[in-house]
Amino acid sequence: MHRLRQALASTTVRLAGSYLLIIMLMSISFSIVFYKTSSHELGRQVPPPSVFGVRRFEDFNSQGPGIDSFFEERIAQGRRALLTKLITLNVFTLGAGSVVSYYLARRTLRPIEANLEAQSQFVSDASHELRTPLTALQTSNEVALRKPKLTNSEARQLLTYNVQEVEKLKQLTSALLGLARQDANDTRLGKTRLQDIVADALNVIVTSAVAKDVAIEDTVADIAVMANRLSLVQALVTILDNAIKYSPPHTTVYVSAASENNQAMLRVRDDGPGIAAKDLPHIFDRFYRADQSRGKQQVDGYGIGLALAKKIISQHSGRITVDSQLGAGSTFIITLPLA
Ligand code: ADP
Repeated sequence: MHRLRQALASTTVRLAGSYLLIIMLMSISFSIVFYKTSSHELGRQVPPPSVFGVRRFEDFNSQGPGIDSFFEERIAQGRRALLTKLITLNVFTLGAGSVVSYYLARRTLRPIEANLEAQSQFVSDASHELRTPLTALQTSNEVALRKPKLTNSEARQLLTYNVQEVEKLKQLTSALLGLARQDANDTRLGKTRLQDIVADALNVIVTSAVAKDVAIEDTVADIAVMANRLSLVQALVTILDNAIKYSPPHTTVYVSAASENNQAMLRVRDDGPGIAAKDLPHIFDRFYRADQSRGKQQVDGYGIGLALAKKIISQHSGRITVDSQLGAGSTFIITLPLA
């Protein structure tokens, strides 16, 4: 992060330098042209040798300074004054231009800086998440290796644990890839029936719902939205998967959708533990997991799903919100523009 800041600071200075160079080139060129035309105009103030055939003053009075040298002296003074003013103006432009250039360079680089910081934050969060299961794997293997002898069942137990942890790591890396790739994905939208999207998503999660004896009640109205079917299914799978994951067995998850105020409103409600008020503002942040999810109940997950779902839904010009209280279940509400 420190090196990133240093690199950005030097880029800002270089960019500000380029801006200043352009400003000064313009100012100096303008001054040169202005000086040349003005001094040419001043030169034209000397009367020609003879005006309408009348002889000039010094022709009558050859002693003492003539009117020509008087004019020339005045013109030279005028030129000097002009030059001083132009130099002062350019010095002022240099000062003011430096401030303006620096401000403009900062403004140009601010979005890039924000992006780079978000990226570097992502990399450090991701490595942190990867390190935890890797450390657990390393510790269990080291402990087993320290034993002089491993029984067959101990070896099997260790290998089973290793395979489970590796499976989790695989899930984590594909979730990370999903998050990183989402920007590059094809996000073309087309008119799609919401019922089809919900049906696709239910197909994916049906096995885990059955395994946990969680019933699904689907009352999605026949409405069409502008959607990228694959991405929206992926977002909905995350929300349904959470609803099942966090719900106690033998409960019901309700999926409903209707057209309200010219928008499609899709709701996923569960009778799970609910979300504490302090966690609500953060659950859509990358890697955020409410304490109870990390705690003793130990629901598997990495805090990536909702961040990705939110990203997908905003790519659909939609919104995702949650209505939840501890002990009172959760309702995730997705708003999408109608097709
Ligand atoms: P995770 O992999 O932890 O489920 P998500 O990004 O999908 O990551 O969710 C972030 C957090 O939001 C979860 O850790 C959990 O605390 C909370 N959460 C999400 N959905 C629900 C739900 N249906 N019921 C209770 N808590 C939920």
